[in-house]
Amino acid sequence: MTIQIALVGVGKIARDQHLPTIAASGRFALAGVVSRHADDLGVPAAATLGALKAQVPELAAVSICTPPIGRAAVIREALDLGLDVMVEKPPAATLSEAERFADMARAAGRALYLTWHSRQANGVEPLRHWLEGRRIRRLAIAWMEDVRVWHPGQEWIWEPGIGVFDPGINALSILTRLLPAPATIETATLRFPADRASPIAASLAMASEAADAVTAEFSFDQRGPQTWTITVKTDGGTAVLRDGGGKLAIDGADVPLDEPTEYGRLYDRFADLVGRGEVDADLAPFRLVADAFLLGRREVVAPFRWTD
Ligand code: NAP
Repeated sequence: MTIQIALVGVGKIARDQHLPTIAASGRFALAGVVSRHADDLGVPAAATLGALKAQVPELAAVSICTPPIGRAAVIREALDLGLDVMVEKPPAATLSEAERFADMARAAGRALYLTWHSRQANGVEPLRHWLEGRRIRRLAIAWMEDVRVWHPGQEWIWEPGIGVFDPGINALSILTRLLPAPATIETATLRFPADRASPIAASLAMASEAADAVTAEFSFDQRGPQTWTITVKTDGGTAVLRDGGGKLAIDGADVPLDEPTEYGRLYDRFADLVGRGEVDADLAPFRLVADAFLLGRREVVAPFRWTD
């Protein structure tokens, strides 16, 4: 049966990924949107989920694509309306908010999926299998992108919140999938622009029983070529996961992979969870971010400018 789904928040990721993925899916149909502006999609649009559900009684699920601040209220409203819920990363504004979502969904008897799209990148599972039986000597993350390209004009990203960890948490979602034992933060340096409330760069050192050394470098100020790479040196060779997990090379040789389908896989998994009435709410990447802020040494760097 096709699941009638609404998007909440029609911004960059909703238009880049969610709308085309739903349109191509045989398991979902777009039933409406909750949006302050999007009246161009040929489906009902409303200011709240309650108002949309009144217009579209067959609405059964929502996919939440707003910024993390304010998500908790939207999730509460969705569950109260009897809807199954899928959530963009990061799951919430705070860890304590996010920790309530799974119990809220179970109490409401609804499916919940707190998504990590980068975990669905094509190279992640092949790398996880390759790592089985190998000892990780050093795992180094370099996740360096230009906020001006990926979050054009989005002032919310500079409000108190996770800043550069908005992309960095994608790498941490891969890391926590790859490692067979938990990682913990040992040291963190967070670099805040003098005029902004969230960090533009961060350096992390982590510990894990599954690796001798784990480090991460995150930047939101990377001009020119963008870098989303995880290099894993083991006792049995070196793997390099590039392009956010979309490409994998082992000892210098590219591994053949499927075509990119991150969001297709997310929606397939959500449909499966809806069918079984289950909850998938892994907070391990978000917990690492929270710990980086607990331990983080703060440095002040140059003010941020959207244009040169
Ligand atoms: P965005 O372009 O700013 O879109 C967010 C949308 O949420 C807005 O267009 C707006 O939609 C709605 N909204 C509701 N309350 C808002 C508020 N207080 N401030 C701003 N917008 C508000 O953001 P985005 O890049 O799509 O990111 C949304 C989420 O997706 C974030 O959690 C982000 O981490 C995640 N994500 C983003 C990317 C990316 O490449 N940008 C990639 C993967 C995941 P209406 O005008 O329709 O109400």
